[in-house]
Amino acid sequence: MTALRLIGEIMPYKGTKMSEEGQKRLSETRKRLFTQGRLAPWNKGLTKKDHRVFKNISGGSRKTQFKKGPKPETAGRNNANWKGGKRKSSAGYILIRNKTHPRSQNGYIFEHTLMAEKKLGRYLKLDELVHHINENKEDNRPENLAVIYRGSHVGYHRWGTELKEIDD
Ligand SMILES: [Zn+2]
Repeated sequence: MTALRLIGEIMPYKGTKMSEEGQKRLSETRKRLFTQGRLAPWNKGLTKKDHRVFKNISGGSRKTQFKKGPKPETAGRNNANWKGGKRKSSAGYILIRNKTHPRSQNGYIFEHTLMAEKKLGRYLKLDELVHHINENKEDNRPENLAVIYRGSHVGYHRWGTELKEIDD
């Protein structure tokens, strides 16, 4: 409550105008995400108006779209074929289906390992590890990955000691 009030005081806009614009923006975002297939139509917090919008976009019936049951998103993660063999590890890292890589385990390899090796042009050595620079485990863009010595990693996260990227 305190934080919300504080934001309200800081915001230079008037309450009602801000709220309307905010809602409109949110609605636009939902529509965009939905057409991109990134938002499930049974997403919580939708208004009746949103239901209509989704119905018009997809051409489906409300009955089928809003039926209860497990979200396909969840079902997909348990499915090995999800997004062409991508899934998430219990620790939150992205795994890629790959049976031939030396480090593949149970038919999967960490996406960050593959990306880092692509960047280096060689396989990772045993004493090397991939660090996510922005700490987002799912952000495997090459510029977010630093190959570092395993031994220096814990110190970096615990005490902020320096990390030296291995780039050859
Ligand atoms: Zn790290």
